[in-house]
Amino acid sequence: MNARHLPANALAKALGPAGAESTPAVHLPPTPGQLVSCKLPTRWGEFDLHGLVDAVTGAEHAAMSLGRLDDGEPVLTRLHSECLTGDTLYSLKCDCGTQLEGALQAIAQAGRGVLLYLRQEGRGIGLVNKIRAYALQQAGADTVEANRLLGLPDDARDYAVAADMLAQLGIKKVRLLTNNPAKVDALQGLGIEVVERLSLHMPSNPHNQGYLQTKSRRMGHYGPDE
Ligand SMILES: [Zn+2]
Repeated sequence: MNARHLPANALAKALGPAGAESTPAVHLPPTPGQLVSCKLPTRWGEFDLHGLVDAVTGAEHAAMSLGRLDDGEPVLTRLHSECLTGDTLYSLKCDCGTQLEGALQAIAQAGRGVLLYLRQEGRGIGLVNKIRAYALQQAGADTVEANRLLGLPDDARDYAVAADMLAQLGIKKVRLLTNNPAKVDALQGLGIEVVERLSLHMPSNPHNQGYLQTKSRRMGHYGPDE
């Protein structure tokens, strides 16, 4: 690979400090735990896309940001956990896909903010376990009962990597877009100051009304009026 015509700072960004110093290798592995960045045009404008390999789990997480984040001012922030069915397969069983769109739209409107896209499918239980839980829900269980019948936790998500990504982006204070008080507590416990919580409620549909009610009744989520 001949990369000598590329500017040194572009090489450093793409390859990491070690790669820029040595001769660039074709199959240079990503450094675990270290964010790499590029531009990503979207329907809401041109975001900065960041990604890292989780040094503990090996999962690849992403973040999309707009504007300057490291000036000490609170940053509009959304922690979005991957939902393959809702985000990309157009499922109406949950509100993940519409929340993802709503959050990116809110960040674009504000002109500054970040969305972390955390690869913890099905509140951390994985895609195949989520499909097993959906099958139990078809038989009448709610989302909490289904997980318990399978011997799985209600919510297995861990936000340590989210706090690490925010720190690497220079963010210490956030205005958090969430209906989930557990996310506020988790970030505060990890040293990120949540100066404000902003609700993110999207219109429901007949397929996800039960799920949304369970989230507020059994999982402590804030409803639209709280
Ligand atoms: Zn979902």
